Amino acid sequence: MAAGESEHWRSNLSNLLSTQQWPEDFKPIVTKLSNGERLSKSDGRFLFNTSDLDSLGQIAYFSKMARYEDQVFFNVNVHINQTNICTLACRFCAFRRGRRADDAYAMEIEEYVSDLRNYADHVDEVHSVGGLHPEWNVEHYSKLFTRVKEQFPNIHIKALTAVEIKHISKLSSLSVRETLQKLKDAGLGSLPGGGAEILDDEVRAIICRGKESSEEYLEIHQTAHELGIPTNCTMLFGTIENIDQRLDHLIKLRELQSITSGFQCFVPYPFLPDDSRLPEAQLATGTEILRVIAVSRLMLDNIPHIKAYRMNIGDEVAELALQYGADDIDGTVQKESIMHLAGSNAPLDHGKAQLAKLVINSGSKPVQRNTIYTSFEEYILPKVPAVQRLRMAAGD
Ligand code: SF4
Repeated sequence: MAAGESEHWRSNLSNLLSTQQWPEDFKPIVTKLSNGERLSKSDGRFLFNTSDLDSLGQIAYFSKMARYEDQVFFNVNVHINQTNICTLACRFCAFRRGRRADDAYAMEIEEYVSDLRNYADHVDEVHSVGGLHPEWNVEHYSKLFTRVKEQFPNIHIKALTAVEIKHISKLSSLSVRETLQKLKDAGLGSLPGGGAEILDDEVRAIICRGKESSEEYLEIHQTAHELGIPTNCTMLFGTIENIDQRLDHLIKLRELQSITSGFQCFVPYPFLPDDSRLPEAQLATGTEILRVIAVSRLMLDNIPHIKAYRMNIGDEVAELALQYGADDIDGTVQKESIMHLAGSNAPLDHGKAQLAKLVINSGSKPVQRNTIYTSFEEYILPKVPAVQRLRMAAGD
């Protein structure tokens, strides 16, 4: 098993697909999947355009079941966004502030450590991304990570998106490789996937001008993988992209993964419109989110995990996404700014039990994992005392 995945998943999938009759127009895709063949861009086009969401979802769910049976993974993390000061101004971003804004903030190292201390006894990961601070170079982040590791050696640091790495390396006059190596030496454990948006430079020029190019995003992740730093990858959809651009995005990630095997997890999330600056965005509905999850599961045959990012899509859709091919749900979170400023209403402070309930309601078994998917433990929901159950019933 790699990353918790059954090594026999292709034959498991073939068996599962053979248990059902499929609509005529799905048969070529079912045959390919049964034979262990990779789906093409035109297969992806069909899946994005079919009106038969049930069949699409069922095939994606079988693909998830073939790998993990009824397990759904989660970890216990806290998100700390270290600064909202950013030298860029991506059009979809409701989080960034100019340095002089009244609500601009930049956490000093000790402030960050003391904030993390509030969660340190029950989280095993800190997820930190933020703005491109004009002065924080590799020395700053090395000091921060060293300090975190001194204080909390068991907490995994998943931090800094590709554009932050590019910015830090430029500020420090170092190559991306040297920057990543220094950060790894200081305690950086993995990179989140944020900032991929859509890997199409025409779209990027409109929604996030000045950010790393598609090629740079892929190069930074490739360099991280070569240095033994696992990463996640993402896709922001529902801005101005078309279906072919989404598919090109997925195929670029799949091609890099064929070289490095360094992506752990793919996290698709829709653009949230509130309070940001992209009025022409198409926005994604609930079924569109489920469709993207399902298509991602089927197109990304070499990326082990597909995440339902409840912070962005909300608890209700996240629960459904677990029946459309997602095998992972993020997370307990506790504290988060970026998605909430952009309009997310997802509850922040989920304990393990609340998260596990979402998983169980979707018909799956919650399994707590570490960040890098090397340790797994089934989570058993604590029994609710009878008296509490009665009180809840009386309050209905
Ligand atoms: S998305 Fe990131 S890089 Fe772009 S403006 Fe927001 S904080 Fe800055």
